[in-house]
Amino acid sequence: MELQIRNLSKTYANGVVALDRVSLSIPPGMFGLLGPNGAGKSTLMRILATLQECDSGSVFLDDIDVLDEKDEVRRLLGYLPQDFGVYPKVTAYELLDHFAQLKGLAQRHRRREVVDALLQQTNLFEVRNQKMGTFSGGMRQRFGIAQALLGDPQLIIVDEPTAGLDPQERVRFHNLLSDIGEDKTVILSTHIVSDVADLCANMAIINKGHVLLCGEPVRLIEGI
Ligand code: ADP
Ligand code: ADP
Repeated sequence: MELQIRNLSKTYANGVVALDRVSLSIPPGMFGLLGPNGAGKSTLMRILATLQECDSGSVFLDDIDVLDEKDEVRRLLGYLPQDFGVYPKVTAYELLDHFAQLKGLAQRHRRREVVDALLQQTNLFEVRNQKMGTFSGGMRQRFGIAQALLGDPQLIIVDEPTAGLDPQERVRFHNLLSDIGEDKTVILSTHIVSDVADLCANMAIINKGHVLLCGEPVRLIEGI
């Protein structure tokens, strides 16, 4: 699915202008949103994920008005926030099963199939009975992706997922995202240039709430 963002603005109550008339077209595949801390990335990701209100502008996901038809968007959306909570005392299987129930997968048998498949896809099947508290940063992020993929979303939003991962974990995480990006729209927000360069077919550079550049990484990154 394709996202069309037009003139999106957001000023916080303290006067900080987080987004200033941001316009972007985000086609299917992997899209990178690159910018330093404070650029407005998380604000934009939360608005797209229907978790925060904007002041003005419009967002369409194909024909769906994202700012208006929130329930519809939530059905189509998978979101991995920047700091998602970890529940150290439950196992990966138990937690993913729990989230699957919250997503409305009532049938135990069907849930098991879905949960097992997602654990396989994210390379966590072998450690599914370990408590989440024993997981490395990379394992947690892969778990976050498994959770975001519940319900077969068409749009996946991932906010700063590789911060704090070691190089091997980053490679694993990149491979996972590339697979997902083959048939979905994936937005990856990051301040790490190589995340975008390695993974994304299209990208935008954002700073201080403004989109500075938009295009293919090969064209933009050589100019940085
Ligand atoms: P979340 O739980 O999604 O992080 P917040 O909106 O509280 O929700 O925080 C979003 C980001 O903005 C965080 O990185 C936080 O540190 C920062 N932030 C929150 N409140 C303020 C503020 N009053 N001034 C500047 N930055 C803030
Ligand atoms: P990024 O994700 O690129 O680091 P953010 O969207 O978190 O950027 O923040 C953009 C700007 O808005 C920053 O100046 C941040 O301090 C401010 N900000 C974020 N959340 C809040 C909030 N809840 N209240 C006030 N200011 C905020």
